Amino acid sequence: MRVGIVGAGIAGASLAEKLARLGHEVLLFDHRAPWEKPCGGGVTPRALDDYPGLLELPLSRREIREVVFIGPTGRRTVLAMPRAWHTVSRRELAQVLLERAEAAGATFLRRRVQRISESSGFQIETAAENFQVDFLVGADGATGLTRRSLVGKWNRDDLCRCYGFLLPGPGDLRLVIRFYSDLIGYAWLFPRPGQLFSAGIAASGSRLGREELVQRLCRLIEAELISSGHPVPSFPKPYAALLPSLSAQSFASPRVAGRNWALVGDASGAVDPVTGEGISYAFKTAKLLAEAIAEDQGRSYPERWQEMVRLGIGHAGAHCWRERFYDPKVLWLYSLVLQRSGQVQELTRDLFSGRQSYHDLKPRVLHAIPQVLLETLLSLFTHRAPP
Ligand SMILES: Cc1cc2nc3c(=O)[nH]c(=O)nc-3n(C[C@H](O)[C@H](O)[C@H](O)COP(=O)(O)OP(=O)(O)OC[C@H]3O[C@@H](n4cnc5c(N)ncnc54)[C@H](O)[C@@H]3O)c2cc1C
Repeated sequence: MRVGIVGAGIAGASLAEKLARLGHEVLLFDHRAPWEKPCGGGVTPRALDDYPGLLELPLSRREIREVVFIGPTGRRTVLAMPRAWHTVSRRELAQVLLERAEAAGATFLRRRVQRISESSGFQIETAAENFQVDFLVGADGATGLTRRSLVGKWNRDDLCRCYGFLLPGPGDLRLVIRFYSDLIGYAWLFPRPGQLFSAGIAASGSRLGREELVQRLCRLIEAELISSGHPVPSFPKPYAALLPSLSAQSFASPRVAGRNWALVGDASGAVDPVTGEGISYAFKTAKLLAEAIAEDQGRSYPERWQEMVRLGIGHAGAHCWRERFYDPKVLWLYSLVLQRSGQVQELTRDLFSGRQSYHDLKPRVLHAIPQVLLETLLSLFTHRAPP
């Protein structure tokens, strides 16, 4: 089968490699890959479980063993992570995945796809040339042409706005996550390999404008650098990017495939609506589609996609975990008990390392409440210094 993949990011390039290995003729289109896509570059243990070969790829990584959580009132908690996170350069990762796809036999075309139309399969139009394919894959990100052409635009509620920088930074900077009482989202500083750090702020459906969000981010960067005795760099123009963050309604009725076409990665909306993690789902959806194509020419992909999200990010979406978690009162309470309760710290570690899925989060939280109350009261009563 001749497969056209629009977008050579994580989902597109890893799918291209798999399909080429299965013997398909693969055309992979991207006008700018490999590039430094706006991203934290944070690879969680969950992503490593889904793509175990990731640590063996020839790319520089930064291992992260501690995460600093800052609550809405500025309360800080430092958590040691038993399973390391890693951060990577998105350009390097894209380069390696692209090389693997080409080595497996995929043809990479450095072209922007300008139009797609259905004609016994699909016609893919670029400025210089048109290509006929039997099967079309949209791996062109959150706002890509494929999704817009085949499904339509996302609702505003399904997208999260992000602003950020990739900056030079000291080697000893810690990974920081900062919550705000009026924000569905958070700001982050992720140390990267090569004396760099990625800093960003993400906001779902927020009334806060770009300027306010960028100012908050700059203040966080300044505070973290100054408190660790480092100079503050001058800030370049921030990037702006959109990330899928699906509402309950959109998770309930996703459209990720049709006759001879499918969407993977961000284009399919497979992103954690609470944390914004998308790298692991880009790998996962590519794997699911390759398996579906191998078995039944892709027909079972929608069911596989639904099954993948059912107990995890789809459950979080359907049960409004995003809105619940970022409720100002919940966030305030969370940052208080996170600092003082070993149970909550354990839960947070498990959530972030992918050992705790959303579908059994509620029973675990309910079960832990008496112990958490006890730990918190004891800690307040004895004035035990929080970690
Ligand atoms: C600011 C920000 C921070 C993030 N941080 C993290 C993080 O730390 N950890 C994490 O797990 N996830 C993070 N994510 C999510 C993660 O970046 C995405 O989920 C992931 O990159 C999705 O991969 P993808 O291959 O689906 O899409 P992308 O990586 O977006 O790749 C899409 C590709 O399609 C190409 N393309 C687009 N249009 C066309 C066209 N018309 N023709 C040809 N090519 C086209 C683009 O050039 C691009 O290379 C973050 C996202 C954002 C926006």
